[in-house]
Amino acid sequence: MRVVKDYEGSAVIIAELDKTQNECVLVSPYVKLWDRLHLALERAIERGVRIEAFIRYPESDLDVNKVKGTVTDFTKLGVKTYLVKNLHAKIYSFDQSVIVSSMNLYDFSQQNSIELSVLFDESDTITEIKNYINDHIKRVAIPYHESSSNNIEKLVEKEGFCIRCRARIKDDPVHPLCSNCYTIWAKYGNPNYLENYCLSCGKEIKTNIAKPYCYECYSKNISKNKKEDNHVQTKPNPILIILIFAVLLFIFIQCITCQQ
Ligand SMILES: [Zn+2]
Ligand SMILES: [Zn+2]
Repeated sequence: MRVVKDYEGSAVIIAELDKTQNECVLVSPYVKLWDRLHLALERAIERGVRIEAFIRYPESDLDVNKVKGTVTDFTKLGVKTYLVKNLHAKIYSFDQSVIVSSMNLYDFSQQNSIELSVLFDESDTITEIKNYINDHIKRVAIPYHESSSNNIEKLVEKEGFCIRCRARIKDDPVHPLCSNCYTIWAKYGNPNYLENYCLSCGKEIKTNIAKPYCYECYSKNISKNKKEDNHVQTKPNPILIILIFAVLLFIFIQCITCQQ
């Protein structure tokens, strides 16, 4: 364990990143990359390091532009970005170490702010912190959706849960399992195999690939679809109405003339 003060934090992050060969996870609510960090990320990507970034979900439509800027920078580099609601933790995880810090990956903070970082290189602690990232951050992270819209709702894919492990995935009934669980499922390919969660709300309930929703979510979807269908069907056809009216009028006139 090593305590790192103020501006030294950014140098240590870059040094640890340069040593990494496999995987790096950056958890930082706010991001504005500075040149040296940008270059270190480029070097890592060239070495084949898999890098994921978790940033704070925008609180208002005003924040969306900043988030979009960050995601664009990361995407150009080849870093997959996720949004996390209420994110405040700052953790930088590498192959052989983890840094827990008060510092965001923010240009301004690394130069001017009073910050404290702690680098852990004991394997037990590294495992514990990496488990924390998996259980408390990755699980609730929302994949960023490429969108030209500045509206928060449209920025993210409709959220759902893997029906086997409850990992966060897109709410898409065609793909109700995360990639890991799908690989295992595909070995047997049984569509009736019982899974553990509802795709839409994540409630613990027996589901399967063919029926991935709980009863409530299924009926919600059905009533939504019905509403859309009804909307289309309730549009009256004016020609048909005129035709019916003409036929009725004809019969009425016929009746009157018959009675005379
Ligand atoms: Zn899964
Ligand atoms: Zn549900």
